[in-house]
Amino acid sequence: MTDGPVIDGRRLLARLDAFAAIGATPAGGVNRPALGDKDRAARALLAELGAARGFSVFQDAAANLFLRRAGADDLRPPVLIGSHLDSQPTGGRFDGALGTLAALEVLETLEDRGIVTAGPIELVAWTNEEGSRFSPGAFGSQVYAAGAFPAGWQDTVGSDGARLADELAATLAALPAASERLLGGPFAGYIELHIEQGPLLEREGALIGVVEGIQGTRWLEVVIEGQVAHAGTTPLADRRDAMAVAAALITQLQATVMPADADARLTVGRLTLTPGAVNVIPGEVAFSIDLRHPSNAEIDRLEAEIVRLAAEIATRGGCRASVRRSMDIAPARFDERLIGIVEQAAKRRGLSNRRLFSGAFHDALFMARLGPAAMIFVPCRGGLSHNEAEHVEPHQVTAGAQTLCDAALEAVAALATA
Ligand SMILES: [Zn+2]
Repeated sequence: MTDGPVIDGRRLLARLDAFAAIGATPAGGVNRPALGDKDRAARALLAELGAARGFSVFQDAAANLFLRRAGADDLRPPVLIGSHLDSQPTGGRFDGALGTLAALEVLETLEDRGIVTAGPIELVAWTNEEGSRFSPGAFGSQVYAAGAFPAGWQDTVGSDGARLADELAATLAALPAASERLLGGPFAGYIELHIEQGPLLEREGALIGVVEGIQGTRWLEVVIEGQVAHAGTTPLADRRDAMAVAAALITQLQATVMPADADARLTVGRLTLTPGAVNVIPGEVAFSIDLRHPSNAEIDRLEAEIVRLAAEIATRGGCRASVRRSMDIAPARFDERLIGIVEQAAKRRGLSNRRLFSGAFHDALFMARLGPAAMIFVPCRGGLSHNEAEHVEPHQVTAGAQTLCDAALEAVAALATA
């Protein structure tokens, strides 16, 4: 057990309701595109709630929003806790909002009890995590981690034709009371609470996911070159059928990669046949492979295996194969000390927990490259997310926020001196 402060679950649930009303959809979800009117309204409400409790409000040039509760030694780097407020067009009411509002609940709980922490604790609401209006996602945390905007970002145009630069400027201007802050800056640790967006916790009846890291993603473009020929007149021995080779390769990969390793994910999501006529043997087939794994060494090994198999099967079918990388995001492994702090926080409250890897991207992926980071997951019904029916039970919300509160307090004591 613990004698740490108990969060106010009812206040947090009421806050979740209030924010779900901003951009609410008829089906019970949320449509709050990054840097749009609804996103600005949510940011304004968060800033207002924070200011009312005496927290300092800051925003940086990427419109990342910070609420700061001072510590005894206010020169120490802060422990950051938070998530994001933007949503998918038909998003749920917990994705991002849970972690952001739980962070507010932590700050308010400390304020209610007059608890003095060794160093400051800050809530952060990252800009454009979802990436559905402006690509890429996790924009705010990437800019924060890099300390600068990516080249050419001013030319980014959203799915609705709006310019990112214009919307960013208008969003910053909409919070004139927030103090400006430089991009980046040191932090003692970063802890993000989020819904799992997958089925593992619910299936195992665990309340808390102690996240060890975020799996890596590599995209490959495979091209099989054969020979265009007549479908009717070309006998088997003379066919150099690129589709037959592609089908054999994909079948072989699906039969081996995931069955051999429960942590591996392999998806062929796009395939193009050329020329693409019903009575013509395809001369070229190009397809994508989305490869994911918590270990970069294993992603390397799988890529090498794909290259080897592609060459072998193509040669057997009289074709040529090439494999090219189109995207590569290395896995993030969270800080062991912070993972342990989260795990102990859950255990001390008697909350059932398990360690797991995140299958989805989060802002924590980019924060982990800068300093100690960790994540806390709670279950969501049916593992469903990016969906208006997304649902988290009240006791799961409370369990996640309590774990965040305990872990943040432990982290500020343990890490702020570092
Ligand atoms: Zn999210």
